[in-house]
Amino acid sequence: MISLSEDIPINKELFGDDFAWGVSTAAFQIEGACDAEGKGASIWDVFVTRQGKIKSGHNAAVACDFYNQYQQDIDLVKQLNIPNFRFSLSWTRILPKGTGEINQAGIDYYNRIIDYCLQIGIEPWVTLYHWDLPHELELKGGWTNRESVGWFTNFVKIGAQYFGDRVKHWMVMNEPGVFTGAGYFLGIHAPGRTGLKNFLPAIHHVVLSIVAGAKQLRSSLPGAQIGTTFSCSFIEPQSHKPRDLAAAKRVDALLNRLFIEAISGYGYPLGDVPALKGITKYMLPGDEDHMKFEFDFIGVQNYTREIVKYSFFTPYISAALVKAEDRGVPLTEMKWEVYPAAIYQMIKKFSAYPEVKKLVITENGAAFPDAVTNGEVDDPLRMEYLQGHIGQVLRAKNEGYKADGYFVWTLTDNFEWAEGYHPRFGLIYIDFDTQQRIIKSSGRWFAAFLKV
Ligand code: BGC
Repeated sequence: MISLSEDIPINKELFGDDFAWGVSTAAFQIEGACDAEGKGASIWDVFVTRQGKIKSGHNAAVACDFYNQYQQDIDLVKQLNIPNFRFSLSWTRILPKGTGEINQAGIDYYNRIIDYCLQIGIEPWVTLYHWDLPHELELKGGWTNRESVGWFTNFVKIGAQYFGDRVKHWMVMNEPGVFTGAGYFLGIHAPGRTGLKNFLPAIHHVVLSIVAGAKQLRSSLPGAQIGTTFSCSFIEPQSHKPRDLAAAKRVDALLNRLFIEAISGYGYPLGDVPALKGITKYMLPGDEDHMKFEFDFIGVQNYTREIVKYSFFTPYISAALVKAEDRGVPLTEMKWEVYPAAIYQMIKKFSAYPEVKKLVITENGAAFPDAVTNGEVDDPLRMEYLQGHIGQVLRAKNEGYKADGYFVWTLTDNFEWAEGYHPRFGLIYIDFDTQQRIIKSSGRWFAAFLKV
């Protein structure tokens, strides 16, 4: 029986001095300045202009205006006592067309961010790819084109060359399962493509790119800590009937095992997800040798648990998620179940791979319907969510599983992809009309928790 999180008292000392506390963000969700100073268009800049793709027709042209307000926001990271700040590089700010000429203004901008972090004692953790592929490259097939491996490696090389003297922690990609699944199979994220014919080559080229990117970092920056991040949900079957159990196993393989196993040298879990078998068509002789890398750490990103049942009508996977809404469980604004023990289960699962040396929770957080009252934002549900999940991380750590850090998603409310600005995930509230920031009570709690 899984004990509930409230049972686990937490204080920072219990995690030890080496544990990395942080907060995570992503370029497209916060920066705005979508065409400033030579920036090229990414697939997300284009996708937001497509009718009906983003709730309420929102776009990220301004977002949190982090491009201009980065100092103020990094000051807030400091004010919250958060020692590590994770952000991503916008590929098209640096290489407007994805390859070719470098945009010096983009390099200067990230230099300013990195330098400012270091100046005020915050460690920058950089994600190279958080979903904003250059549009020019999408016109050439994007991740479905095998040439993407070379395009991406070149971008990584430039990142390492310009920023590697100061950035010690790198994450090659953010959640390959989500951007290939939502962007190349379901079509609900950029670039809006659908079907196995797009999904399968995208998966394989992304795996090759993660490994090639990681090898590039290793050779450019031998002393760096190199990681990459994975999305995951704790999967449980709706019942113990064999067909529900088998359905849960397929979903687990697809959502949780596909990428970590590929890059750890186990190949794709084709036995458990036969629908992926067509991927072999995109594999060339010798590819196995280019699918494995020993990462210094992996980032695990968990938000919830999913209950899975057999479904005759769901193509390819014959499995369906039982909506949390229909299960009478506590929900976030995203309609995701609040289930803190999921993060414990995921740490246990990913720790079990002998290839995983260190494991950092690089994202965890929740959206709730926050409101400003008398100039303040009181969000006890988010605070409870964070406390519960941090408690479960401690539980895993105490039981000897790998747990080397915890990053909250996210610093400020921001552009939540297809959901627009509706779900608010921040420790800090943003009034998107005025760009005013208000630290939520969860942010004040986190600051007090982290206080030395
Ligand atoms: C992503 C973030 C996203 C968050 C909440 C993760 O999948 O990395 O970009 O905003 O979850 O949905």
